[in-house]
Amino acid sequence: MEFGDSPREAEFRREVRAFLQAEFVGKYPSESDGENADYQRGQRPEFRSWRQKLAERGWIAPAWPKEYGGAGLGVMEQFIMNEEFAEQRVPAVGGMGVMMVGPTLIVHGNEQQKTEHLSRILSGETRWCQGFSEPEAGSDLASLQTRAVRDGDDFIINGQKIWTSGAHRADWMFMLARTDPEAPKHKGITYFLVDMKSPGIQVRPLTDLANHNVFSEVFFEDVRVPAGNVVGELNRGWYIGTTTLDFERSSIGSAVGLRHQVDAIARDLGFHERATGGGSGERPSLRWELADRYVEAHVARLMSYRVVTMQAKGMIPNHEASMTKLYASELTQRIARTGVKLLGLYGQLRGATAPMRGRYGTRYLTSLSSTIAGGTSEIQRNIIAMRGLGLPRN
Ligand SMILES: Cc1cc2nc3c(=O)[nH]c(=O)nc-3n(C[C@H](O)[C@H](O)[C@H](O)COP(=O)(O)OP(=O)(O)OC[C@H]3O[C@@H](n4cnc5c(N)ncnc54)[C@H](O)[C@@H]3O)c2cc1C
Repeated sequence: MEFGDSPREAEFRREVRAFLQAEFVGKYPSESDGENADYQRGQRPEFRSWRQKLAERGWIAPAWPKEYGGAGLGVMEQFIMNEEFAEQRVPAVGGMGVMMVGPTLIVHGNEQQKTEHLSRILSGETRWCQGFSEPEAGSDLASLQTRAVRDGDDFIINGQKIWTSGAHRADWMFMLARTDPEAPKHKGITYFLVDMKSPGIQVRPLTDLANHNVFSEVFFEDVRVPAGNVVGELNRGWYIGTTTLDFERSSIGSAVGLRHQVDAIARDLGFHERATGGGSGERPSLRWELADRYVEAHVARLMSYRVVTMQAKGMIPNHEASMTKLYASELTQRIARTGVKLLGLYGQLRGATAPMRGRYGTRYLTSLSSTIAGGTSEIQRNIIAMRGLGLPRN
């Protein structure tokens, strides 16, 4: 692994930094708190001109090929861009359309699907949600039971999805449904694009621990979906869904965000001690803990370097990606716990009038889902055990 930039990479890093200094720094509203706050911030009207500037360079979808409106950047360039954007706390603008379904359509979609959807994803005209998980199919996704039955030029879909992030705001869903219940479970699944305005779809918001409405249940009752909305071949949806999940898991950049959170705690610790008259000598254990978090955030960064180096060499990270996800998501929770300790009992308070605007209490609650979303810690450990350490399946 090469820690420094090659001359070409260093030049690209300078270009990204210069662009951010000229077009972003000091020009847009700063961070906000709350679940998905980063993505929601990027969608606000004040950021319209920023999205436009990114679009002109193809940087809304840096990984997409140029012919589809992306920038066609290589793995290392994308990584550098993510790192520099994270350093300046640039909000995400692409969402699941850019990160997941767009790249899947580029690989598996037909020309009509690409024409209909890709430019609308890039312009932000359509928002997407991911309809994979069901009440009885999460870690074991291939057990999904939502049925799609052919009827003339359409399929009729019946069933239920759950934990669908952003479903209440989405215009479209990419989803998996069972089209051949007789086939072995991985082989009877098809990948569909579904217009969320279709009659028969009901979205029921779910409230999470932090009282946010991030995800929903989605019910399908005799929902008609044109056969033209099948992506790839009938009954081959599992393999196309895997492509989508690979794109989800390859998203990089959280390690820088983790370090920012540790920096913020260190800053707030100073404010808090001045406000309460406490001195550093009174809370040595918190300081030690903070130092641990700082080191761990650096380790998370090195782990993501390992994954990206493999990708840049054309290798497919497998248990290495699971190690990184496991480590970063558990660290997210440790950082949140350290943050709450900073304020003692006040750390549990939330809302604008609480100390530090209640952000540590909120982060503590929202961090709990990080070891579930995108594959639980137990599943990551299974992958590390079997594919990394060569242990037998239990
Ligand atoms: C914030 C958030 C956002 C999400 N967004 C979406 C979304 O947009 N779209 C979507 O489709 N899904 C989404 N999900 C769902 C997510 O993918 C699932 O929650 C996750 O895959 C786990 O599935 P499950 O909840 O059904 O738990 P289960 O699979 O039922 O697991 C229950 C428990 O059993 C353990 N377990 C299961 N199998 C094994 C095993 N083989 N070995 C050891 N332990 C095991 C798990 O680790 C867990 O602790 C989201 C989840 C969260 C928390």
